[in-house]
Amino acid sequence: MTVRVRFAPSPTGPLHIGGVRTALYNYLFAKKHNGTFILRIEDTDQNRYVPGAEEYIIEAMNWLGIPFDEGVGSGGELGPYRQSERKAMYRQYADRLIENGWGYYAFDTAESLANLRKQCESEKKTFVYNHLNRNALENSLSLSPEEVQARIDSGTPYVVRFKMPVEELHMVDEIRGHITQDTGLLDDKILFKSDGMPTYHLANIVDDHTMEITHVIRGEEWLPSMPLHVLLYRAFGWEPPKFAHLPLIMKPVGKGKLSKRDGDKMGFPVFPLRWTDPKSGSISAGYREDGYLPEAVLNMLALLGWNEGNDREMYSLSDLIDAFSLARVSKSGAKFNPQKTKWFNQQYLQNYSDEDLALQFAPIVKEKCGQNPSAEFLTRVVHEIRARATFVHEFWDLGAFFFVAPTEFDAKASKKQWKTTTNDIMAEVCTLLEGMDVFDSASLSTRVKGWIVEQGHGFGKVMQPMRLSLVGAPQGPDIFDIAEMLGKEETINRIQYAMQTLKK
Ligand code: GLU
Repeated sequence: MTVRVRFAPSPTGPLHIGGVRTALYNYLFAKKHNGTFILRIEDTDQNRYVPGAEEYIIEAMNWLGIPFDEGVGSGGELGPYRQSERKAMYRQYADRLIENGWGYYAFDTAESLANLRKQCESEKKTFVYNHLNRNALENSLSLSPEEVQARIDSGTPYVVRFKMPVEELHMVDEIRGHITQDTGLLDDKILFKSDGMPTYHLANIVDDHTMEITHVIRGEEWLPSMPLHVLLYRAFGWEPPKFAHLPLIMKPVGKGKLSKRDGDKMGFPVFPLRWTDPKSGSISAGYREDGYLPEAVLNMLALLGWNEGNDREMYSLSDLIDAFSLARVSKSGAKFNPQKTKWFNQQYLQNYSDEDLALQFAPIVKEKCGQNPSAEFLTRVVHEIRARATFVHEFWDLGAFFFVAPTEFDAKASKKQWKTTTNDIMAEVCTLLEGMDVFDSASLSTRVKGWIVEQGHGFGKVMQPMRLSLVGAPQGPDIFDIAEMLGKEETINRIQYAMQTLKK
């Protein structure tokens, strides 16, 4: 058997991070078994269609490096892969269920059903259209065949409903194990609507079957639909796929599902890419635009509901493919931890070479100060500051002084470190530096430190004001590395500027 899995989103807006995790688990499962990862767009509900949502899904997967093998945007033999383009084929399947007795026509109007619902409510009951009352309602089970035909011929609107059997249904979920359902409690779901369109349930089963899907891996919110889906396979006489329902992704704090509001409140994105709502124009943050690396986002998502059975945290995509199994996906909800995503980002950032990071940093430098430093200089800057960064965009705050001289100095440090004698000492330092022909970090270190010892000044007295002059703050990389990179002239200029500004 060749594994074929599908990700089947409805294009109703940007893809939520939970949807990305569903796609990722499908991808990992497919790749692990040399299978095929398919994108099917479930757009039967045209009222909820949002332009751009489909492109967004494809772009997000490409950014994450988990592209589809087949389906919308990738081609394939078993398409079309957009349900709106498959409209014409669903009717025959609804007819087939009517013929074999698993489906029936129902003529009940929206109004009559609303009345029945109201009546039930007043009796503190819930209205369920099923074996208990279907014979008393207006459908092809209660009406004579002639009456049914007459209504259809006269154009009376109808739907096709599923005749839910009454039994103890036994099912297996790859994650949850054995599940039992008393189907007598379920309703006769509508499969085909009066507007000639299938409902989600019918389209989903027909598509999974005709697209030869072997494993349905999807969110827990679809677990209640599993009995109907399993029974639909039985009704058609088709071999059902295996089912796996993934645990919910929960709020970082408190109870309930992770929502966009949690992200807004706590300052983390719940979408892979930035999204601009086509109607309201409102913008939602995305991991990509916020500076996250795709491998960090993938690693974080992979562990949100799955682990290998040990404490391992760092996984490349190919490690994940090797290690992943549905058997180790957890049954209970996975708490979202935005701090952990940052941690992963930092880990992955540290894996990049100085040269790669310099390339990513170049446009930021250009934007901030208009400079185009050489790749060599940028690479050295990155080398000095990278250890303290979680994101590439933090490089600027950590290393702006490499490009622009400080004009302000940390107030607390200036007060404490710039003493009445400092200007005299710094003047001597300038003379010392002026006389150096070789101005590299090692020579500077030997020379300046040697001189400090000779003079008996004490290291802090010289090095702290030097640092303040060059950086503007009491922290940063090795002071002699900085001086070498700035060059003799700039180093001396900065010390002289600090002397004028901070003189006591
Ligand atoms: N269109 C459904 C969704 O948006 C697909 C559910 C499934 O995978 O069966 O989640």
